Amino acid sequence: MDFIRIAEIFDKIDKESITGRIELTNIVAKFIADVSDEDLQIVLLFFQGKTFPMWSNKELGIAENLVVKALSKTTGWKEEKIKDKIREEGDLGNVASKILSERIQHSLFSSETENLTVKEVSNGFQKISECSGGGSQDKKMQLIDKILSKATETEAKFFIRLLLGEMRVGIGEGVIRDAIAIAYNVEPNLVERGYYLISDIGRVARIAKTNGTDGLENIVPKIGIPVRVMLAQKTDGVKVAIDEFGKCAFEVKYDGMRIQIQKNNGKIYLFTRRLENVTDQFPEIVRAVKENVQADSVIMEGETVAIQGTGQCDVSERRKPRVFQELSRRIKRKYDIEEIASKIPVEINLFDILYLDGKSLLNEKFEDRRKILENTVRTTETFRLAEQIITDSVEDAEKFYNYAIKLGHEGVMAKKSDAIYQAGSRVGYMYKIKPLMETLDVVIVGGTWGEGKRAQWLASFLLAVREPVSNKFLTIGRLGTGFTDEEFKEMTENLKELVTREEGKDVEIRPSIVIEVAYEEIQKSPSYTSGYALRFPRLVRFRDDKSAEEADTIERVEELSR
Ligand code: AMP
Repeated sequence: MDFIRIAEIFDKIDKESITGRIELTNIVAKFIADVSDEDLQIVLLFFQGKTFPMWSNKELGIAENLVVKALSKTTGWKEEKIKDKIREEGDLGNVASKILSERIQHSLFSSETENLTVKEVSNGFQKISECSGGGSQDKKMQLIDKILSKATETEAKFFIRLLLGEMRVGIGEGVIRDAIAIAYNVEPNLVERGYYLISDIGRVARIAKTNGTDGLENIVPKIGIPVRVMLAQKTDGVKVAIDEFGKCAFEVKYDGMRIQIQKNNGKIYLFTRRLENVTDQFPEIVRAVKENVQADSVIMEGETVAIQGTGQCDVSERRKPRVFQELSRRIKRKYDIEEIASKIPVEINLFDILYLDGKSLLNEKFEDRRKILENTVRTTETFRLAEQIITDSVEDAEKFYNYAIKLGHEGVMAKKSDAIYQAGSRVGYMYKIKPLMETLDVVIVGGTWGEGKRAQWLASFLLAVREPVSNKFLTIGRLGTGFTDEEFKEMTENLKELVTREEGKDVEIRPSIVIEVAYEEIQKSPSYTSGYALRFPRLVRFRDDKSAEEADTIERVEELSR
């Protein structure tokens, strides 16, 4: 398929500012109805403004400057002149399109005649992600130039926006799901279920197209690809859980990071809740799985907690949880892994099993899954089962809750004994019970360089919440306090790679980092694009376990502000 076809659809959505759910769904449904199996996956990724599936390890690592260089090479325009134009237009995609339209008029007869295909663009992204080491920026620039040289003005605009991860014409997951359902005449909830199980919307669409409802119903997890985890609802206390579930399981709600462990013979994969592959970051977990999991193939879940570890003779001292930021350092570290692993040891508390020796366990009851888990794992001091009691006594559950808090963890989870595992959903099978403090999970979308002592650091961060239909981010406040110098430094290091544009002291940041903030109040405010402002936001913790797509939405802000 020619890339121009999808670029023209984006252009229409952009120019006509189409944001209505039904209209967007119909546009996507009509478009994908006749896309070939081969191109379907790419087209659906592009519709979501993505270049790779969420669970893929691949990254483009492209900042605006590099694209300016490539554009200069393609068009002969001076870099400074392009930058001036960006200041006028505010969007590099639009700038590229304008410059190319001039070029195209001037060299109409000599320009390439062969059309750019979606496959070529996707291959380009693939190759860019493979560039590493010395000269990689140059190689990336050549690859960008190669595509830009073949692109029409509309294609250039959206190629660049994809490249920078700033589609602006965002189409949310819900719209894609409904569009697949309409295009291939299947139930939207079956499409969603499939997506939650194999996290690959392109494959789900292909199955819907070729095998319809039967195909979707038969989707089972596939080892090597993360399953979207089942989520918990909040509730006010253990009594509510017992009133609803009756006799049920209470488990310590460990303060750490959810991890999905997959094993297929000798091969082990570790995924975070946001579907990132962190296998390389936790070699000790890989070893523990190899040594202690008696199964050929398995998918399990647990909570990874950073602990005090060695040097303490008492077990309870060794197991004391450390602050989440320490675990964040483990997740982000790409080198000297064994060294940091010995400095920041972790323990795993397993709490569920989804798949065992070729068989999906999703439809088994929770109490049975727990038994299977117990029979599959040999526990050690740091590779354990989540501590659990089964009770219908409010008093016992409260005692257990206080015990969990005393251990330094967040509270408890209450789990319905006969509940199946519903991937990806926040169904009422599992409640979280923790001390009450309203917080919001927001995304960092911008920042400002500091002054004086902080001139080298990004010192104030622009926060945003999600608009789920169009997948856009709406600003809601700024955060500049609550960090130590060390944290400012680390934040700057991490955010620097995500800067897409700089204007004086202000930077725009690709929405990717989620943080949990507490605040005094939510006020209506015209200063931010959400229409609301957080009063006195302060950092509670980094949510490395969440992707930007899982950040809180504008609807939640509206609810909380009432
Ligand atoms: P929250 O992140 O506040 O929505 O709470 C849900 C998270 O608690 C899960 O995603 C897990 O990472 C974490 N968690 C900690 N302990 C447990 C447990 N025993 N069972 C299930 N989830 C747990």
